[in-house]
Amino acid sequence: MSRYRAVFRCFSGCEGEWELTRAIYRCPKCDGLLAVEHDLEALRDRSAAAWMKLFDERYMRTSWPYGSGVWGKREWVAPAVRDDAIVSTSEGGTNLFWAERLGREIGMKVLWVKQCGNAHSGSFKDLGMTVLVSVVRQGMALGTIKSRVIACASTGDTSASLAAYGATAGLPVAVLLPRGLVSTAQLVQPLAHGATVFALETDFDGCMAIVKELAKRDLVYLANSMNPLRIEGQKTVAVEIAQQFDWEVPDWVILPSGNLGNAAALHAGFRMMKELGVIARFPRLCVAQAANADPMYRAFVAGKDVVEPTHAQKTQASAIQIGNPVSAPRAMAALKAMNGVVEEATEDELADACARADRTGLYTCPHTGVALACLFKLRERGVVGPDDRVVVVSTANGLKFTEFKLGYHERTLPGIDARRAGSPVVLPPDVEQVASAIAAMGAVGG
Ligand SMILES: [Zn+2]
Repeated sequence: MSRYRAVFRCFSGCEGEWELTRAIYRCPKCDGLLAVEHDLEALRDRSAAAWMKLFDERYMRTSWPYGSGVWGKREWVAPAVRDDAIVSTSEGGTNLFWAERLGREIGMKVLWVKQCGNAHSGSFKDLGMTVLVSVVRQGMALGTIKSRVIACASTGDTSASLAAYGATAGLPVAVLLPRGLVSTAQLVQPLAHGATVFALETDFDGCMAIVKELAKRDLVYLANSMNPLRIEGQKTVAVEIAQQFDWEVPDWVILPSGNLGNAAALHAGFRMMKELGVIARFPRLCVAQAANADPMYRAFVAGKDVVEPTHAQKTQASAIQIGNPVSAPRAMAALKAMNGVVEEATEDELADACARADRTGLYTCPHTGVALACLFKLRERGVVGPDDRVVVVSTANGLKFTEFKLGYHERTLPGIDARRAGSPVVLPPDVEQVASAIAAMGAVGG
């Protein structure tokens, strides 16, 4: 038994605590969100230097399960999960792409892109899903979790990740998707993993309402990010970013966000490092939203503390097409603590940012395009300075969004002026014609 302890508590501070292996998703007293709280006093038995050394010794090594960027920090995540319950695909350890050329284009010296999409299922969701599915497996073994099926509503990446972890563990998975609103890759992934896929004639928020009711009836265990276990895993991205900079904190983290769980997770990770003395300050946070699904942006601009639900319009950034973000109260707390801002990007801006970044070697998903477009705006307004050290979190792999990429380069995306579209040069198989076309090419870069 670990000497460290973590429990569920009410996010708003109601009394009571519950074991992580209980199927509980909301505070029974106020119906608000739950949070995972760690016994920080127990964690102070190691100095900050000792934690950093331990995490560095484990990082990206083969000693199972510590090579995982999540389980390498297990004492900070879910300390009571036993080795035999852990379902891991070696999460985390994703690279920081030094966006040197893109940074130079916008007058910045230090721009990095944290490639969280270079993950097992192609998105950052794996970080949280490994924790959730491992805790569920332990809860099932203990008999505290009765439902046999793990389920989620999804805009794509969550279902792909849950299906992968369910299949790894041999646990049945059901996913509820808005029909016609997810990319082909995102639909294929859960099907390939043998999950039961429900395509419902509604949007994400409609799917979410149904899966919450199923969980209430104990028919399924709820895997959406309302479940704070996901946030515990995702918060390791903050620890990993600091670790990759030799435990220095960047000046800004720019994060595309729809359901806002990742904003809460980022804050949770930085907060834990600060409380345990690993870092001395927070980076500033920018929550980047698509203008077609921007409830937090609206609240921020109006100076409100509460995010009012909106009806999300269609956006190419389909994973953040969310009008009623579950983690809004958590994200508001993160924004305040991290001296944050919220920015938004139109469809044309996000697509252009993707194309621009791709020309400098990235291969961006549309959500990362939202984050980059927001960075460009912050840079233009001088909110982000030329010497600021900035990390843009890329949440999914661009390869999942081939329809978006193809649509851009074929100039068929509505409302998007594909200024940087490319198309193949069609020529007969004649060396002279190809040679003269080559000779006419301009130099790349500069
Ligand atoms: Zn409460």
